[in-house]
Amino acid sequence: MSLSKPQSDTVSGARQFLATLALLLPFVAALAGEPSVERTDNGTDMLQDSTFDEDSRSSETAAVAEELVEAVPAHEHLVPLAEAVTTAEGLAEPLLLLNTEIMPGTAHRLSWSATELFEGVPVSTPVLVVNGSTPGPTLCLTAAVHGDELNGIEMVRRVLHEIAPGKLSGAVIGVPIVNVQGFRRGSRYLPDRRDLNRYFPGNPNGSAAARIANALFNDVIAHCDALVDLHTGSFERANLPQIRADLRNPDVVTLTQGFGSMVVLHSTPTIGTLRYAATQAGIPAVTVEAGGPLQLELAEVKRGVKGIETLLSTLGMTKKRRTWGHPEPVYYRSSWVRADNGGILLADVSLGSTVRKGDLLGTITDPMNNQRTDVYSPYAGRIIGLARNQVVMPGFAAFHVGIETDEILTSQEQPEPAPNPKPATGGYVDGMSE
Ligand SMILES: [Zn+2]
Repeated sequence: MSLSKPQSDTVSGARQFLATLALLLPFVAALAGEPSVERTDNGTDMLQDSTFDEDSRSSETAAVAEELVEAVPAHEHLVPLAEAVTTAEGLAEPLLLLNTEIMPGTAHRLSWSATELFEGVPVSTPVLVVNGSTPGPTLCLTAAVHGDELNGIEMVRRVLHEIAPGKLSGAVIGVPIVNVQGFRRGSRYLPDRRDLNRYFPGNPNGSAAARIANALFNDVIAHCDALVDLHTGSFERANLPQIRADLRNPDVVTLTQGFGSMVVLHSTPTIGTLRYAATQAGIPAVTVEAGGPLQLELAEVKRGVKGIETLLSTLGMTKKRRTWGHPEPVYYRSSWVRADNGGILLADVSLGSTVRKGDLLGTITDPMNNQRTDVYSPYAGRIIGLARNQVVMPGFAAFHVGIETDEILTSQEQPEPAPNPKPATGGYVDGMSE
């Protein structure tokens, strides 16, 4: 299959940037905002990730100091994703995956193991594969890269078991539990507290996280023509079902449009995420966020499954035509509203609520002196992410507001943070949960 040209020129740029950032890291905080510092779009994300780490009470090691290998695609893509089925010629071919030959018109359950436990026992996780009877692209679904994000696991199971191999054009590969070690412990992280989704495409000689990332990338992801990575909100936060996508990439736009009625949030992927590394390797990728961690939320699962099945139909991989309402708005900007005070946070809005500037979002009450603070929205928009009711510290990101703007701000045009930003409302916190 050939879909679109890999963006290898940007890979070396990204590596160079990583190396530079590693050297500069101790000075970055002091220099932030200085006009002399060249900030790429991904640099912006990286700086904001430090906000994320503090906010998420994480002790994870920053991935920037580690050298990641280049994301090299296994095959070249020359045809746009939208035309992958219509331009496919000849007969469907066997799919070689994890040393197994999957014949056209068949479904298989394979096993993938990236690493060993301390006692030397391999940790294996299932890989579900359906190879269609007619040729087409290979769509991959990954879930639980963060081990406590459960909704995507059930989405992958439902989608893969619903597909009839005889009626599929192309192939679908599903990895329901990527971070099996985190999943077993009910944790977002790997056992060493590293966030696996900051280490792609990994390094075979690097840390445990970099090795697992590298194994997944070479063993599975390199076989994909497009990727949907399934996530939920993090740390007691839930997300309105939404697609996060870099809308400057035409094949990524094709993916987002295929989902039908789901909110789209334009976001440049953070370096080290699976979405970033796959797109760098010429494999268009989006993240689907739905619900919160540590729970199985049926409404969110059904929403995700419907979106993915609509995508399969829109790409022409399945015949069943799914029509699904009007497209939801695209948000080119979003911002987190943070708590100014500590105390008990109670929301007055729910996921999907439309808010005007100045609307009450929730209250924070000090349990000791009974003093209540109201939290108002500084923006007009829609609540696309929300902290569950809980006790919060000042600075906690509580309400994620999607803001409708007319067009994409490209990386060059993205506004620098205000010289004196109000810490309470923050700016972009891209990749807060991805
Ligand atoms: Zn996640």
